[in-house]
Amino acid sequence: MATGKIIIISAPSGCGKSTIIRSLNNRGNINWRFSVSATNRHPRTGEQDGVDYHFLTSEDFSNAIADDAFIEYEEVYPGRYYGTLKSEVQSHIDQGENVVLDIDVKGALRVKKMYGNQAISIFIMPPSIETLRQRLENRATDSAEAIAQRVSKADYELSFAPQFDKQIVNDDLETAVENAEHTIKAFLQQ
Ligand code: 5GP
Repeated sequence: MATGKIIIISAPSGCGKSTIIRSLNNRGNINWRFSVSATNRHPRTGEQDGVDYHFLTSEDFSNAIADDAFIEYEEVYPGRYYGTLKSEVQSHIDQGENVVLDIDVKGALRVKKMYGNQAISIFIMPPSIETLRQRLENRATDSAEAIAQRVSKADYELSFAPQFDKQIVNDDLETAVENAEHTIKAFLQQ
């Protein structure tokens, strides 16, 4: 049986990554399973343990690091850790399943380096930093200070885009989804 492949999707916050992944999933044209990451952050309303994340205490997260349970982990925000569990990836690709990882930019590049041609790294980007700022302002969920922080983090993250296998600009959502689906299907057929 052929081994499965890894699809890594990354983006600065506010670029529509979750919406694109959800659309791809709803279209049902790609055969993949989601890797459920571990985090020490608290669940948001509606999030379920084992579905959205494996929600761990900081102590359990540290123990998992000590047990070498992660392929990679990052402190994505100060004090907030996120990690890809080996158990969510390796046995599945061994069984021929494709696995999708929605992880931050640094984790993405690390996983790509580890898996080489067995993985594709995709970077979803805003048409411009100015558009991103406007989208975050229109969402009206964040304070002006939080928006400024996100924009400056996005600016930094965008500097990593050229290191990804594929960059997809999310200007028009439908076009971005088509583009992502086409890219992933071509990769899975290689
Ligand atoms: P949120 O707290 O909004 O769910 O996620 C925050 C960020 O953490 C997102 O950019 C998400 O892609 C990233 N993230 C989620 N899981 C992982 C993981 O396992 N490893 C890394 N490096 N980043 C992750």
